[in-house]
Amino acid sequence: MSEFSESQKRVLGLTTEHLLHYDEGGSQFLLESQTLDAYKKLKVAAQSAGFDLCLISAYRGYDRQKVIWEGKLDGARKVHDDDGKTIDLNQLSDEQKIAAIIRFSAIPGLSRHHLGTDIDIYDANVMSKDAVLLEPFEVEAGGPFAPMHEWLDEQINNNNAFGFYRPFKERSQTVAPERWHLSFRQEAEKLLKHLSPSLLESLWETHPLKLNERLIAESGRYYQFFTQ
Ligand SMILES: [Zn+2]
Repeated sequence: MSEFSESQKRVLGLTTEHLLHYDEGGSQFLLESQTLDAYKKLKVAAQSAGFDLCLISAYRGYDRQKVIWEGKLDGARKVHDDDGKTIDLNQLSDEQKIAAIIRFSAIPGLSRHHLGTDIDIYDANVMSKDAVLLEPFEVEAGGPFAPMHEWLDEQINNNNAFGFYRPFKERSQTVAPERWHLSFRQEAEKLLKHLSPSLLESLWETHPLKLNERLIAESGRYYQFFTQ
């Protein structure tokens, strides 16, 4: 028994029933079906431009994001700043901790990876998957993945990216632009219509996580950061 509808469960990362399995180089991923079709086309196009466009990550559910969130709060996982330097959370207030984490890591319930329409990518011609850090220097001008991202910018600008776009394109105060992250816009936007501050409050009340009282109290603000 759940108080959430099927669409609500999808946007909150509480179900995988609608997702398809995809095997890439021995790694398993879950993706929404239209997103998977579009991804395969993008991959072929990249191949003919000389890039081996591959996935680092696709769907991640609420529970997985909760492990990441709590690992960062516990100090088991590193929290870094825009320059890749480690931040010591012990020196920070709860609100500052949240602000530091959400620069690069979503709050459980507010991850675009819940949607099954969003992916993190790299160029496997340049380095192996294990060596990828997903840090800004890798994708910025001069970085190892810059050529593939310049090509992707061109495809996106010319409407040749099979429906993918960059949802964190603008440099914002709150969430860092993640050039490695692409979203299949049509399906993502459809799903995100089901998200609201009150839905998030219900989620955090019924699926508790660290600092959830703070999150519940500020649900409107975090929702805005995410959707702006
Ligand atoms: Zn991502």
